Amino acid sequence: MIEIKQQISLKSYNTFGIDVSCNYFVEINSENDFFELIKNNIYKNNQKLIIGGGSNILFTKNFDGIVVKINLKGISIKSETETEVIVKSYAGEGWHDLVLWSIANNFCGLENLSLIPGCVGASPMQNIGAYGVEIKDVFYELEALEIETGLKKKFNIKDCKFGYRESVFKNEMKNRYLISSVSFKLKKNIILNTLYGAINEELAIMQVNNPTIKDVSNAVIAIRQSKLPDPKITGNAGSFFKNPEVSKEKYLSLKTSFENIVAYPLPNGNYKLAAGWLIEKCGLKGFELDNASVHTKQALVLINKSNATGNNIYQLSTYVLQKVFNTFGVTLEREVNIF
Ligand code: FAD
Ligand code: NAP
Repeated sequence: MIEIKQQISLKSYNTFGIDVSCNYFVEINSENDFFELIKNNIYKNNQKLIIGGGSNILFTKNFDGIVVKINLKGISIKSETETEVIVKSYAGEGWHDLVLWSIANNFCGLENLSLIPGCVGASPMQNIGAYGVEIKDVFYELEALEIETGLKKKFNIKDCKFGYRESVFKNEMKNRYLISSVSFKLKKNIILNTLYGAINEELAIMQVNNPTIKDVSNAVIAIRQSKLPDPKITGNAGSFFKNPEVSKEKYLSLKTSFENIVAYPLPNGNYKLAAGWLIEKCGLKGFELDNASVHTKQALVLINKSNATGNNIYQLSTYVLQKVFNTFGVTLEREVNIF
């Protein structure tokens, strides 16, 4: 049985902690709840916004419509062979809870993605990634319900058109589907990926010589906790910008002026620049504008310093964009979804 509430504050439903409201708010605990909802006139006649944990959203104004919070729960094994297992998770499971479940079952593949906030249902939206792993590397399929009709559709990896922090659901299928479950193909034989970022250094600090998947997860958790603000204490949505991709020529010309620029070659011949480094080089680490600020430990993260509005955060992001463009001639793109 669904309950549509009116004039609800969204402050506790977005990790920036922005105090906006929505006209209508409903929580979905089962697919049947959704089938009931789509028959309701309030749903039919209003703009819709599906949310999970609200950790990749910036509200710049009240939401003039109905917010649908997805709580569908359940994790199960769909099939397995001697070496692989297909794990299905409903959309409302916490992402990190799924990671911990996989580690407890000794299934390999999700450990580098430890401690990413939010829910499983949002994970395909931007093909979440960290420490050299993206969900496209472990993705099997997903089920989605058409927002207007409730019709169920399966998407395989090709259908999802995953890219760097991108998918079909952020582009041509934007606002078309509610992702209800995601299935992952995990490994029973352990192949760890510890080369990325500071994982190996952290394992050395932990004095771990032959890491298990749990050790890798713990190392990732320790690094993240040392660098990233905890949204429960300081409002943020993780990296506010994507790492920009530039041509080899552009990279080489930047390299002549900025010898220490942090960049990584891509398979297509272009280079990925570390946006955090660009922002820091502009002298913006810790920079404050109104009630928003650039995080002191990782410049890619913008934070709600004290009761910031969504516009405070957005204006800071515009300031950062302009500074980076004026200094490097590189345009940053926002990763966070703006409403
Ligand atoms: P929400 O913020 O609720 O929604 C995000 C978008 O997805 C919105 O457009 C929403 O409409 C849509 N959406 C949500 N659920 C559904 C659904 N079931 N069906 C259809 N559409 C849906 N991201 C990374 O990729 N890598 C990281 O390492 C990472 N680290 C982070 C660290 C911190 C401290 C924080 C705060 C954020 C970080 N993020 C990271 C960003 C964020 O956690 C992820 O993008 C996460 O997947 C968002 O999940 P959510 O449930 O909070 O989505
Ligand atoms: P970091 O390790 O300090 O690295 C800085 C940047 O360099 C990262 O953005 C990463 O790109 C890139 N990088 C590092 N090692 C690389 C390698 N071996 N090959 C290619 N690129 C490499 O970054 P961090 O801020 O501490 O974050 C660690 C990881 O968590 C990163 O993967 C980052 O994407 C992820 N993260 C994401 C968010 C988010 O909200 N999206 C928030 C926090 C952390 P990539 O970003 O492309 O990996």
